[in-house]
Amino acid sequence: MNTERFDVVILGGGNAGIGVTGPVRRAGMSVAMIESHDLGGTCPNRGCTPKKVLVAAGHALHEIERAAIHHISVGKPKLDWSALIDREKDLIKDIPANLARSMARRDVEVIKGHAAFAGPNAVRVGDRRLEAKHIVIATGSKPRQLPIPGAEHMITSDEMLSERELPGSVIFVGGGVISLEFGHVYARAGADVTILEALPQLLPAMDVDAVARIQTESERIGIRVKTGVSVKRIEPANNRLRVVFTHQGTQHVAEADRIVNGAGRVANVDTLDLAAGRVEHGNGRVAVDCHLRSTSNPEVYVCGDALPIAPQLSPIATYEGDIVGRNIVEGPKYSPDYGSMPTSVYTVPALAAVGLTEAVAHQKGYAIKVHSNDMHDWFSARTYAEIIAWSKIIVDQATDRILGAHFVGHAGEELVNVFGLAMRFGITATQIKDYIYAYPTFSSDIKHML
Ligand SMILES: Cc1cc2nc3c(=O)[nH]c(=O)nc-3n(C[C@H](O)[C@H](O)[C@H](O)COP(=O)(O)OP(=O)(O)OC[C@H]3O[C@@H](n4cnc5c(N)ncnc54)[C@H](O)[C@@H]3O)c2cc1C
Repeated sequence: MNTERFDVVILGGGNAGIGVTGPVRRAGMSVAMIESHDLGGTCPNRGCTPKKVLVAAGHALHEIERAAIHHISVGKPKLDWSALIDREKDLIKDIPANLARSMARRDVEVIKGHAAFAGPNAVRVGDRRLEAKHIVIATGSKPRQLPIPGAEHMITSDEMLSERELPGSVIFVGGGVISLEFGHVYARAGADVTILEALPQLLPAMDVDAVARIQTESERIGIRVKTGVSVKRIEPANNRLRVVFTHQGTQHVAEADRIVNGAGRVANVDTLDLAAGRVEHGNGRVAVDCHLRSTSNPEVYVCGDALPIAPQLSPIATYEGDIVGRNIVEGPKYSPDYGSMPTSVYTVPALAAVGLTEAVAHQKGYAIKVHSNDMHDWFSARTYAEIIAWSKIIVDQATDRILGAHFVGHAGEELVNVFGLAMRFGITATQIKDYIYAYPTFSSDIKHML
Protein backbone atom coordinates (compact mmCIF):
# COMPACT_ATOMS: atom_id res chain seq x y z
CA MET A 1 0.00 0.00 0.00
CA ASN A 2 1.50 3.36 -1.09
CA THR A 3 1.58 6.16 1.44
CA GLU A 4 0.75 9.69 0.26
CA ARG A 5 1.35 12.74 2.40
CA PHE A 6 -0.84 15.88 2.74
CA ASP A 7 -1.01 18.76 5.16
CA VAL A 8 -4.76 18.26 5.61
CA VAL A 9 -7.04 15.30 4.86
CA ILE A 10 -10.79 15.99 5.04
CA LEU A 11 -13.24 13.12 5.45
CA GLY A 12 -16.46 14.20 3.72
CA GLY A 13 -17.17 16.67 0.92
CA GLY A 14 -20.31 18.39 2.24
CA ASN A 15 -20.79 21.93 3.51
CA ALA A 16 -18.46 21.36 6.46
CA GLY A 17 -15.64 19.73 4.50
CA ILE A 18 -15.82 22.32 1.74
CA GLY A 19 -15.85 25.07 4.42
CA VAL A 20 -12.46 23.82 5.67
CA THR A 21 -10.82 24.08 2.25
CA GLY A 22 -10.97 27.91 1.96
CA PRO A 23 -8.62 28.89 4.82
CA VAL A 24 -6.25 25.95 4.42
CA ARG A 25 -5.80 26.39 0.67
CA ARG A 26 -5.35 30.18 1.06
CA ALA A 27 -2.50 29.30 3.42
CA GLY A 28 -0.96 27.10 0.71
CA MET A 29 -1.50 23.77 2.49
CA SER A 30 -1.87 20.58 0.45
CA VAL A 31 -5.36 19.12 0.85
CA ALA A 32 -7.07 15.82 0.04
CA MET A 33 -10.84 15.45 0.42
CA ILE A 34 -12.36 11.98 0.56
CA GLU A 35 -16.01 11.67 -0.43
CA SER A 36 -17.92 8.40 -0.56
CA HIS A 37 -20.99 9.66 -2.49
CA ASP A 38 -21.68 13.03 -4.13
CA LEU A 39 -19.63 16.18 -3.62
CA GLY A 40 -21.74 18.76 -1.84
CA GLY A 41 -23.08 16.18 0.62
CA THR A 42 -26.60 16.22 2.00
CA CYS A 43 -27.73 19.83 1.62
CA PRO A 44 -27.58 20.25 -2.17
CA ASN A 45 -28.08 16.58 -3.14
CA ARG A 46 -30.46 15.08 -0.57
CA GLY A 47 -31.48 17.89 1.77
CA CYS A 48 -32.20 21.64 1.78
CA THR A 49 -32.06 22.31 -1.95
CA PRO A 50 -34.17 19.48 -3.43
CA LYS A 51 -36.59 19.70 -0.50
CA LYS A 52 -37.15 23.40 -1.18
CA VAL A 53 -38.27 22.50 -4.73
CA LEU A 54 -41.07 20.41 -3.20
CA VAL A 55 -41.83 23.11 -0.62
CA ALA A 56 -42.13 25.67 -3.45
CA ALA A 57 -44.80 23.45 -5.03
CA GLY A 58 -46.55 23.35 -1.64
CA HIS A 59 -46.52 27.16 -1.65
CA ALA A 60 -48.06 27.26 -5.10
CA LEU A 61 -50.87 24.97 -3.91
CA HIS A 62 -51.37 27.19 -0.87
CA GLU A 63 -51.69 30.28 -3.09
CA ILE A 64 -54.16 28.49 -5.36
CA GLU A 65 -56.22 27.53 -2.30
CA ARG A 66 -56.63 31.24 -1.50
CA ALA A 67 -57.08 32.49 -5.06
CA ALA A 68 -60.82 33.05 -4.60
CA ILE A 69 -60.08 35.70 -1.94
CA HIS A 70 -58.43 37.72 -4.73
CA HIS A 71 -61.49 37.03 -6.94
CA ILE A 72 -59.56 34.61 -9.13
CA SER A 73 -61.42 31.47 -10.21
CA VAL A 74 -59.29 28.37 -10.60
CA GLY A 75 -60.26 24.73 -10.86
CA LYS A 76 -59.11 22.06 -8.43
CA PRO A 77 -55.31 21.88 -8.81
CA LYS A 78 -53.73 18.58 -9.80
CA LEU A 79 -50.07 18.04 -8.97
CA ASP A 80 -48.13 15.66 -11.23
CA TRP A 81 -45.85 14.24 -8.54
CA SER A 82 -43.50 12.33 -10.85
CA ALA A 83 -42.97 15.47 -12.96
CA LEU A 84 -42.27 17.45 -9.78
CA ILE A 85 -39.64 14.91 -8.70
CA ASP A 86 -38.12 15.14 -12.22
CA ARG A 87 -37.99 18.95 -11.87
CA GLU A 88 -36.32 18.61 -8.47
CA LYS A 89 -33.70 16.17 -9.82
CA ASP A 90 -33.11 18.35 -12.87
CA LEU A 91 -32.49 21.46 -10.75
CA ILE A 92 -29.78 19.76 -8.67
CA LYS A 93 -28.19 17.46 -11.23
CA ASP A 94 -25.15 19.63 -12.03
CA ILE A 95 -24.18 20.43 -8.43
CA PRO A 96 -21.59 17.66 -7.79
CA ALA A 97 -19.82 18.34 -11.12
CA ASN A 98 -19.80 22.11 -10.46
CA LEU A 99 -18.32 21.51 -7.01
CA ALA A 100 -15.72 19.13 -8.46
CA ARG A 101 -14.60 21.95 -10.79
CA SER A 102 -14.55 24.37 -7.87
CA MET A 103 -12.40 21.98 -5.77
CA ALA A 104 -10.05 21.46 -8.74
CA ARG A 105 -9.67 25.25 -9.08
CA ARG A 106 -8.77 25.34 -5.38
CA ASP A 107 -6.22 22.57 -5.97
CA VAL A 108 -7.96 20.19 -3.58
CA GLU A 109 -7.40 16.55 -4.51
CA VAL A 110 -10.80 14.83 -4.34
CA ILE A 111 -10.68 11.07 -3.77
CA LYS A 112 -13.77 8.93 -4.22
CA GLY A 113 -14.31 6.28 -1.55
CA HIS A 114 -15.10 5.50 2.07
CA ALA A 115 -12.39 6.68 4.47
CA ALA A 116 -11.49 5.34 7.90
CA PHE A 117 -8.63 5.98 10.30
CA ALA A 118 -5.50 3.85 9.89
CA GLY A 119 -3.57 5.56 12.68
CA PRO A 120 -3.51 8.83 14.66
CA ASN A 121 -2.24 10.69 11.57
CA ALA A 122 -3.39 8.36 8.80
CA VAL A 123 -6.51 7.32 6.96
CA ARG A 124 -7.13 4.60 4.41
CA VAL A 125 -9.41 4.77 1.43
CA GLY A 126 -9.55 1.71 -0.82
CA ASP A 127 -5.96 0.62 -1.31
CA ARG A 128 -4.53 4.08 -0.55
CA ARG A 129 -3.05 5.23 2.74
CA LEU A 130 -2.93 8.98 3.33
CA GLU A 131 -0.88 10.55 6.09
CA ALA A 132 -1.65 14.08 7.20
CA LYS A 133 -0.59 16.68 9.75
CA HIS A 134 -4.29 17.39 10.32
CA ILE A 135 -7.34 15.20 9.75
CA VAL A 136 -10.87 16.64 9.68
CA ILE A 137 -13.97 14.55 10.33
CA ALA A 138 -16.78 16.13 8.27
CA THR A 139 -18.79 13.00 7.56
CA GLY A 140 -22.24 14.46 8.29
CA SER A 141 -25.21 12.68 9.82
CA LYS A 142 -27.63 9.85 9.11
CA PRO A 143 -31.18 9.05 10.27
CA ARG A 144 -31.41 7.91 13.90
CA GLN A 145 -32.12 4.15 14.04
CA LEU A 146 -35.23 3.55 16.13
CA PRO A 147 -35.08 0.52 18.43
CA ILE A 148 -38.54 -0.73 17.50
CA PRO A 149 -39.46 -4.04 15.83
CA GLY A 150 -40.11 -3.48 12.12
CA ALA A 151 -38.06 -0.26 11.95
CA GLU A 152 -36.55 -1.59 8.69
CA HIS A 153 -39.89 -0.95 6.95
CA MET A 154 -39.48 2.82 7.36
CA ILE A 155 -38.23 5.08 4.60
CA THR A 156 -36.22 8.29 5.07
CA SER A 157 -36.05 11.70 3.44
CA ASP A 158 -33.81 10.17 0.73
CA GLU A 159 -36.71 8.06 -0.57
CA MET A 160 -39.22 10.92 -0.16
CA LEU A 161 -37.04 13.03 -2.45
CA SER A 162 -36.78 10.25 -5.03
CA GLU A 163 -40.01 8.19 -5.16
CA ARG A 164 -41.90 9.25 -8.29
CA GLU A 165 -45.30 8.19 -6.98
CA LEU A 166 -47.15 10.26 -4.38
CA PRO A 167 -48.15 7.87 -1.59
CA GLY A 168 -51.84 7.86 -0.72
CA SER A 169 -51.08 7.90 2.98
CA VAL A 170 -48.00 8.53 5.12
CA ILE A 171 -47.25 8.19 8.83
CA PHE A 172 -44.24 10.08 10.19
CA VAL A 173 -42.67 8.59 13.31
CA GLY A 174 -41.23 11.66 15.04
CA GLY A 175 -42.49 15.23 14.86
CA GLY A 176 -39.34 17.13 13.98
CA VAL A 177 -38.39 19.42 11.12
CA ILE A 178 -38.29 16.81 8.33
CA SER A 179 -41.71 15.37 9.27
CA LEU A 180 -43.37 18.78 9.33
CA GLU A 181 -41.79 20.00 6.12
CA PHE A 182 -42.56 16.89 4.06
CA GLY A 183 -45.89 16.44 5.86
CA HIS A 184 -47.06 19.87 4.66
CA VAL A 185 -46.07 19.17 1.05
CA TYR A 186 -47.66 15.71 1.06
CA ALA A 187 -50.87 16.93 2.70
CA ARG A 188 -51.23 19.83 0.27
CA ALA A 189 -50.57 17.42 -2.61
CA GLY A 190 -53.49 15.29 -1.40
CA ALA A 191 -51.91 12.55 0.73
CA ASP A 192 -53.37 11.49 4.07
CA VAL A 193 -50.73 12.46 6.68
CA THR A 194 -50.27 11.50 10.33
CA ILE A 195 -47.43 12.63 12.62
CA LEU A 196 -46.68 10.63 15.78
CA GLU A 197 -44.38 12.37 18.28
CA ALA A 198 -43.09 10.84 21.49
CA LEU A 199 -42.64 14.14 23.37
CA PRO A 200 -45.51 16.40 24.48
CA GLN A 201 -44.63 19.00 21.79
CA LEU A 202 -43.77 18.86 18.09
CA LEU A 203 -40.44 20.60 17.32
CA PRO A 204 -39.42 20.47 21.00
CA ALA A 205 -36.60 23.03 20.69
CA MET A 206 -38.91 25.72 19.26
CA ASP A 207 -40.99 28.32 21.11
CA VAL A 208 -44.15 26.70 22.47
CA ASP A 209 -46.48 29.41 21.08
CA ALA A 210 -44.96 29.24 17.60
CA VAL A 211 -45.34 25.45 17.58
CA ALA A 212 -48.96 25.70 18.73
CA ARG A 213 -49.70 27.91 15.71
CA ILE A 214 -48.01 25.67 13.18
CA GLN A 215 -49.76 22.64 14.70
CA THR A 216 -53.12 24.40 14.24
CA GLU A 217 -52.28 25.12 10.59
CA SER A 218 -51.05 21.53 10.09
CA GLU A 219 -54.37 20.23 11.42
CA ARG A 220 -56.31 22.72 9.30
CA ILE A 221 -54.79 21.23 6.14
CA GLY A 222 -55.75 17.74 7.33
CA ILE A 223 -52.61 16.45 9.09
CA ARG A 224 -53.40 14.32 12.14
CA VAL A 225 -50.96 15.14 14.96
CA LYS A 226 -50.55 12.97 18.03
CA THR A 227 -48.00 13.86 20.70
CA GLY A 228 -46.99 11.82 23.75
CA VAL A 229 -47.06 8.65 21.62
CA SER A 230 -44.99 5.51 22.10
CA VAL A 231 -44.54 3.50 18.88
CA LYS A 232 -44.37 -0.22 19.70
CA ARG A 233 -43.86 -1.88 16.33
CA ILE A 234 -44.25 -1.60 12.58
CA GLU A 235 -45.47 -4.52 10.48
CA PRO A 236 -46.65 -5.26 6.93
CA ALA A 237 -50.45 -5.32 6.48
CA ASN A 238 -52.16 -6.11 3.14
CA ASN A 239 -49.63 -4.35 0.88
CA ARG A 240 -49.51 -1.48 3.36
CA LEU A 241 -47.77 -0.94 6.67
CA ARG A 242 -49.23 -0.88 10.14
CA VAL A 243 -47.94 1.10 13.14
CA VAL A 244 -48.90 -0.09 16.60
CA PHE A 245 -48.58 2.63 19.23
CA THR A 246 -49.85 3.65 22.62
CA HIS A 247 -51.34 7.05 23.34
CA GLN A 248 -52.70 8.13 26.73
CA GLY A 249 -52.52 4.57 28.02
CA THR A 250 -54.47 3.02 25.13
CA GLN A 251 -53.13 0.90 22.27
CA HIS A 252 -53.87 2.16 18.74
CA VAL A 253 -53.22 0.88 15.22
CA ALA A 254 -52.77 3.03 12.12
CA GLU A 255 -52.09 1.92 8.54
CA ALA A 256 -50.45 3.77 5.67
CA ASP A 257 -48.65 3.24 2.36
CA ARG A 258 -45.42 4.64 3.75
CA ILE A 259 -43.97 5.01 7.25
CA VAL A 260 -41.21 7.62 7.51
CA ASN A 261 -38.41 7.74 10.04
CA GLY A 262 -38.72 11.35 11.23
CA ALA A 263 -36.85 10.79 14.48
CA GLY A 264 -33.92 13.08 13.77
CA ARG A 265 -30.37 12.47 12.66
CA VAL A 266 -27.20 11.33 14.46
CA ALA A 267 -23.51 11.85 13.74
CA ASN A 268 -22.19 9.59 10.99
CA VAL A 269 -18.97 8.49 12.69
CA ASP A 270 -19.49 4.82 13.54
CA THR A 271 -17.60 3.39 10.54
CA LEU A 272 -14.53 5.61 10.85
CA ASP A 273 -12.50 3.31 13.14
CA LEU A 274 -12.07 6.19 15.58
CA ALA A 275 -10.08 3.94 17.93
CA ALA A 276 -7.35 3.53 15.27
CA GLY A 277 -7.15 7.34 15.11
CA ARG A 278 -6.99 7.61 18.92
CA VAL A 279 -10.12 9.76 18.75
CA GLU A 280 -12.08 9.70 22.00
CA HIS A 281 -15.82 9.22 21.54
CA GLY A 282 -18.94 8.00 23.33
CA ASN A 283 -22.63 7.61 22.51
CA GLY A 284 -21.86 8.19 18.83
CA ARG A 285 -20.19 11.55 19.51
CA VAL A 286 -16.57 12.58 19.17
CA ALA A 287 -15.37 14.47 22.24
CA VAL A 288 -14.09 17.92 21.24
CA ASP A 289 -12.73 21.01 22.97
CA CYS A 290 -14.03 24.54 22.42
CA HIS A 291 -11.96 24.80 19.20
CA LEU A 292 -13.69 21.72 17.67
CA ARG A 293 -10.54 19.65 18.21
CA SER A 294 -10.56 16.06 19.43
CA THR A 295 -9.82 15.98 23.17
CA SER A 296 -7.59 12.92 22.71
CA ASN A 297 -5.88 13.57 19.35
CA PRO A 298 -5.00 17.27 18.85
CA GLU A 299 -4.42 16.78 15.11
CA VAL A 300 -8.05 15.76 14.51
CA TYR A 301 -10.89 18.27 14.15
CA VAL A 302 -14.65 17.68 13.75
CA CYS A 303 -17.25 19.93 12.10
CA GLY A 304 -20.77 20.00 10.68
CA ASP A 305 -23.46 17.41 11.35
CA ALA A 306 -20.76 14.94 12.46
CA LEU A 307 -20.52 17.14 15.56
CA PRO A 308 -24.01 17.28 17.06
CA ILE A 309 -23.38 20.09 19.56
CA ALA A 310 -25.37 22.66 17.56
CA PRO A 311 -28.44 22.46 15.30
CA GLN A 312 -27.68 20.30 12.25
CA LEU A 313 -27.99 23.03 9.63
CA SER A 314 -26.02 23.69 6.49
CA PRO A 315 -24.89 27.29 7.27
CA ILE A 316 -23.67 26.05 10.66
CA ALA A 317 -21.72 23.23 8.95
CA THR A 318 -20.04 25.76 6.61
CA TYR A 319 -19.32 28.12 9.53
CA GLU A 320 -17.77 25.33 11.63
CA GLY A 321 -15.74 24.15 8.62
CA ASP A 322 -14.32 27.65 8.22
CA ILE A 323 -13.46 27.79 11.96
CA VAL A 324 -11.68 24.44 11.74
CA GLY A 325 -9.77 25.62 8.66
CA ARG A 326 -8.63 28.79 10.46
CA ASN A 327 -7.69 26.80 13.58
CA ILE A 328 -5.54 24.49 11.45
CA VAL A 329 -3.78 27.46 9.83
CA GLU A 330 -3.37 29.72 12.87
CA GLY A 331 -3.40 27.25 15.74
CA PRO A 332 -6.45 26.51 17.88
CA LYS A 333 -7.84 29.94 18.75
CA TYR A 334 -11.31 30.21 17.17
CA SER A 335 -14.53 28.86 18.70
CA PRO A 336 -18.06 28.85 17.29
CA ASP A 337 -20.72 31.23 18.60
CA TYR A 338 -24.16 29.80 17.87
CA GLY A 339 -26.10 32.63 19.54
CA SER A 340 -27.51 34.40 16.49
CA MET A 341 -28.03 31.55 14.01
CA PRO A 342 -31.42 31.89 12.31
CA THR A 343 -33.33 28.78 11.32
CA SER A 344 -36.55 27.97 9.54
CA VAL A 345 -38.90 25.04 9.41
CA TYR A 346 -40.16 25.17 5.82
CA THR A 347 -43.74 24.33 6.45
CA VAL A 348 -46.25 26.40 4.45
CA PRO A 349 -46.18 29.00 5.93
CA ALA A 350 -42.76 28.67 7.54
CA LEU A 351 -41.91 28.75 11.22
CA ALA A 352 -38.72 30.79 11.67
CA ALA A 353 -36.66 31.50 14.75
CA VAL A 354 -33.44 32.99 16.03
CA GLY A 355 -32.04 33.15 19.56
CA LEU A 356 -33.77 32.17 22.77
CA THR A 357 -37.31 30.93 23.24
CA GLU A 358 -39.32 32.76 25.89
CA ALA A 359 -39.00 29.75 28.24
CA VAL A 360 -35.21 29.60 27.89
CA ALA A 361 -34.86 33.38 28.34
CA HIS A 362 -36.73 33.02 31.66
CA GLN A 363 -34.62 30.00 32.66
CA LYS A 364 -31.45 32.00 32.02
CA GLY A 365 -32.72 34.68 34.41
CA TYR A 366 -33.16 37.57 31.96
CA ALA A 367 -35.67 40.30 32.77
CA ILE A 368 -37.45 40.35 29.41
CA LYS A 369 -40.05 42.29 27.50
CA VAL A 370 -42.06 39.99 25.21
CA HIS A 371 -43.71 41.57 22.16
CA SER A 372 -46.20 38.98 20.91
CA ASN A 373 -48.44 39.80 17.96
CA ASP A 374 -51.16 37.96 16.13
CA MET A 375 -50.90 39.93 12.87
CA HIS A 376 -53.44 38.10 10.70
CA ASP A 377 -55.76 41.14 10.72
CA TRP A 378 -52.98 43.66 9.99
CA PHE A 379 -53.34 45.30 6.60
CA SER A 380 -50.32 43.55 5.07
CA ALA A 381 -51.56 40.14 6.19
CA ARG A 382 -55.07 40.86 4.91
CA THR A 383 -53.66 42.04 1.57
CA TYR A 384 -52.06 38.63 1.05
CA ALA A 385 -54.94 36.78 2.72
CA GLU A 386 -52.56 35.19 5.21
CA ILE A 387 -54.15 32.51 7.34
CA ILE A 388 -51.47 32.75 10.01
CA ALA A 389 -49.25 35.75 10.67
CA TRP A 390 -47.67 35.70 14.09
CA SER A 391 -44.51 36.99 15.78
CA LYS A 392 -42.89 37.03 19.19
CA ILE A 393 -39.86 39.23 19.82
CA ILE A 394 -38.01 38.88 23.12
CA VAL A 395 -36.01 41.89 24.31
CA ASP A 396 -33.58 42.11 27.21
CA GLN A 397 -34.91 44.95 29.40
CA ALA A 398 -31.46 45.74 30.79
CA THR A 399 -29.70 46.28 27.44
CA ASP A 400 -32.54 46.70 24.91
CA ARG A 401 -30.87 43.88 22.92
CA ILE A 402 -32.87 41.26 21.02
CA LEU A 403 -32.66 37.87 22.74
CA GLY A 404 -34.97 35.95 20.42
CA ALA A 405 -37.40 36.35 17.53
CA HIS A 406 -40.02 33.82 16.41
CA PHE A 407 -42.39 33.92 13.46
CA VAL A 408 -45.08 31.86 11.79
CA GLY A 409 -46.02 33.24 8.37
CA HIS A 410 -45.63 36.92 7.38
CA ALA A 411 -42.40 36.11 5.47
CA GLY A 412 -40.85 35.21 8.83
CA GLU A 413 -38.21 33.09 7.07
CA GLU A 414 -36.88 36.37 5.60
CA LEU A 415 -37.57 38.68 8.59
CA VAL A 416 -35.69 36.36 10.94
CA ASN A 417 -32.45 37.35 9.19
CA VAL A 418 -32.98 41.01 10.18
CA PHE A 419 -33.20 39.97 13.82
CA GLY A 420 -30.23 37.57 13.51
CA LEU A 421 -28.17 40.42 12.05
CA ALA A 422 -29.26 42.71 14.91
CA MET A 423 -28.29 40.10 17.49
CA ARG A 424 -24.94 39.43 15.84
CA PHE A 425 -23.94 43.08 15.58
CA GLY A 426 -25.55 44.45 18.74
CA ILE A 427 -28.28 46.53 17.07
CA THR A 428 -30.85 47.34 19.76
CA ALA A 429 -34.63 46.94 19.62
CA THR A 430 -34.97 50.75 19.54
CA GLN A 431 -32.58 51.01 16.59
CA ILE A 432 -34.46 48.30 14.68
CA LYS A 433 -37.69 50.19 15.33
CA ASP A 434 -36.15 53.51 14.23
CA TYR A 435 -34.94 52.14 10.88
CA ILE A 436 -36.88 53.24 7.80
CA TYR A 437 -38.14 50.22 5.87
CA ALA A 438 -39.39 50.08 2.29
CA TYR A 439 -43.15 50.33 2.44
CA PRO A 440 -45.39 48.38 2.07
CA THR A 441 -43.36 45.27 2.86
CA PHE A 442 -43.66 42.65 5.56
CA SER A 443 -40.40 44.08 6.95
CA SER A 444 -42.07 47.47 7.45
CA ASP A 445 -44.28 45.73 10.03
CA ILE A 446 -41.20 45.14 12.19
CA LYS A 447 -41.73 48.62 13.65
CA HIS A 448 -45.16 47.56 14.88
CA MET A 449 -43.98 44.14 16.05
CA LEU A 450 -41.82 45.95 18.61
C1 LIG B 1 -34.11 16.25 4.13
C2 LIG B 1 -33.19 17.27 4.72
C3 LIG B 1 -33.51 18.60 4.61
C4 LIG B 1 -32.66 19.57 5.14
N1 LIG B 1 -33.01 20.88 5.01
C5 LIG B 1 -32.22 21.84 5.52
C6 LIG B 1 -32.54 23.19 5.36
O1 LIG B 1 -33.58 23.54 4.78
N2 LIG B 1 -31.69 24.13 5.85
C7 LIG B 1 -30.53 23.76 6.50
O2 LIG B 1 -29.78 24.65 6.93
N3 LIG B 1 -30.20 22.47 6.67
C8 LIG B 1 -31.01 21.50 6.19
N4 LIG B 1 -30.66 20.18 6.34
C9 LIG B 1 -29.42 19.84 7.07
C10 LIG B 1 -28.19 20.01 6.17
O3 LIG B 1 -28.36 19.26 5.00
C11 LIG B 1 -26.97 19.55 6.93
O4 LIG B 1 -26.87 20.26 8.15
C12 LIG B 1 -25.68 19.75 6.14
O5 LIG B 1 -25.75 19.12 4.89
C13 LIG B 1 -24.50 19.19 6.95
O6 LIG B 1 -23.34 19.33 6.20
P1 LIG B 1 -22.08 18.38 6.55
O7 LIG B 1 -21.00 18.78 5.62
O8 LIG B 1 -21.83 18.38 7.99
O9 LIG B 1 -22.60 16.92 6.19
P2 LIG B 1 -23.02 16.32 4.80
O10 LIG B 1 -23.53 17.36 3.89
O11 LIG B 1 -23.88 15.15 5.08
O12 LIG B 1 -21.64 15.83 4.17
C14 LIG B 1 -20.96 14.74 4.69
C15 LIG B 1 -20.34 13.98 3.52
O13 LIG B 1 -19.45 12.99 4.03
C16 LIG B 1 -19.53 11.85 3.21
N5 LIG B 1 -19.04 10.73 4.02
C17 LIG B 1 -19.63 10.18 5.09
N6 LIG B 1 -18.84 9.23 5.62
C18 LIG B 1 -17.74 9.19 4.84
C19 LIG B 1 -16.55 8.41 4.89
N7 LIG B 1 -16.31 7.53 5.86
N8 LIG B 1 -15.62 8.62 3.93
C20 LIG B 1 -15.83 9.55 2.96
N9 LIG B 1 -16.93 10.31 2.87
C21 LIG B 1 -17.86 10.13 3.83
C22 LIG B 1 -20.98 11.76 2.84
O14 LIG B 1 -21.16 11.04 1.64
C23 LIG B 1 -21.36 13.23 2.68
O15 LIG B 1 -21.28 13.66 1.35
C24 LIG B 1 -31.49 19.19 5.81
C25 LIG B 1 -31.16 17.83 5.93
C26 LIG B 1 -32.00 16.88 5.40
C27 LIG B 1 -31.63 15.42 5.53
